[in-house]
Amino acid sequence: LFLDAPLTEGAELPGTPAQAHHLGTVLRRGAGDAVVVFNARDGAYAATIAALRKERCALALGPRIRAPALEPDLRLVVAALKRDALDWVVEKATELGVASIQPVTTRRSVVDRVNTDRLAAIARGAAEQCERLSVPVVHPAAPLRAVLDAWDGAPLLVAAERRGAAPIRDIAATMRLPCGWLVGPEGGFDPAELDDATRHAFVTAVALGPRILRAETAAVAGLAVLQALAGD
Ligand code: SAM
Repeated sequence: LFLDAPLTEGAELPGTPAQAHHLGTVLRRGAGDAVVVFNARDGAYAATIAALRKERCALALGPRIRAPALEPDLRLVVAALKRDALDWVVEKATELGVASIQPVTTRRSVVDRVNTDRLAAIARGAAEQCERLSVPVVHPAAPLRAVLDAWDGAPLLVAAERRGAAPIRDIAATMRLPCGWLVGPEGGFDPAELDDATRHAFVTAVALGPRILRAETAAVAGLAVLQALAGD
């Protein structure tokens, strides 16, 4: 269970209502059962459920079982896709170890509102499920141009299915983190928008092969390649 509060052996800390529900109703756990409590700052602790009622739970922390660890700085910048697709991308990107997720609106975006809190909750659930210590930061949606203007200069690979984009294997093999992976919307990037993006020296267009992938497939496929070749 991810808890943002400072974790120390001997502490008794409340979980969230969602965690109480998950423990009691989904996992069928009860008072006295063992759980693991974690965050990136303090690491992971063996814990027991000290109390559990419908919407409330308390967790008694035992010894630390994993030292603190941050995920490598792999960043996903993804067009604001339709809700189910974006939910899925956030879950899978969390499993694949991204440090942050930035939804962006683009010229061909059909979605212009993104529920950041909902995506953050999905990221948190996925982090708990896959036993990573940190939960990726989910930034509020912003226009692509604004995100590029504020970018810190780390390499940003843009998923581009058009001819001329370098094969991802060629680029990722020499890549070091931090690094970003930018994926377009269901209808693709507007060509002029892609040209504008690649005028930034830190942006490189890369292809995942000759097939046109769904945006959500491109998002997770690229992250898997980058994590395998440049991450850990
Ligand atoms: N409607 C567009 C078209 O037919 O040209 C396709 C857009 S595709 C469904 C959505 C996004 O996935 C693209 O903007 C791109 O970022 C990414 N993508 C899809 N296939 C890709 C590939 N083979 N290589 C790199 N990126 C790809």
